[in-house]
Amino acid sequence: MPPAHRPATPGAASRTGAAALRYAALGWPVLPLHTPRPDGGCSCQRRDGCGQVGKHPRIARGLHAAATDHVQVMRWWVRWPAANVAAVTGTRSGLLVVDVDGDAGEQTLRDLEAARTPLPATREQRTGGGRHLLFAHPGRPVPNSAGKFGPGVDVRGDGGFIVAAPSRHATGAVYAWRQPAVPIAPARRCRTRWRCGRGTPAPPSPARPTASAPLSPAAGTLR
Ligand SMILES: [Zn+2]
Repeated sequence: MPPAHRPATPGAASRTGAAALRYAALGWPVLPLHTPRPDGGCSCQRRDGCGQVGKHPRIARGLHAAATDHVQVMRWWVRWPAANVAAVTGTRSGLLVVDVDGDAGEQTLRDLEAARTPLPATREQRTGGGRHLLFAHPGRPVPNSAGKFGPGVDVRGDGGFIVAAPSRHATGAVYAWRQPAVPIAPARRCRTRWRCGRGTPAPPSPARPTASAPLSPAAGTLR
């Protein structure tokens, strides 16, 4: 088939689109976000300035319209190949994410771990100024929280989402998975207040990806 007649897919031209399809295959609902512009602005082009550059949905119903459907995801990234990608957290994806922001967040995390228990090694993503730690959702409602555990540490749970690799941050940094084969942490070593969830079984075979499946480097490695 001549190239001109091939169906358009975002994978060939869009790294975030390819990643979005892979997250959707893991069962993580995704949605397209606006994109930081090289001049530091946002693709939404709000006249009064955007306070969430590259971090807010391009679609009207936001995370309520997030999808795992392959065709829907392709449609979005064919329309917006440069869109940042978000993954929904909470029971819909089975993800609970601790968002550690900057030096203040790292200090809060050290203090919490010293006072309670160290968090287990888990899948981790580099963000614009910190990192996301992914845990299995415990199954009961866990709301988003900001600063509840201390400065610079937020929780993304039900009703939330994270910006995911290889999205671009307003600073120009690119979100990237660190050691993407590390499974999402089991929760048995977590204390209740950390809400780390029930843990995940052994990594599945590549033929049957699940939310705990290792990510391929193509999903989010910075190149
Ligand atoms: Zn914007």
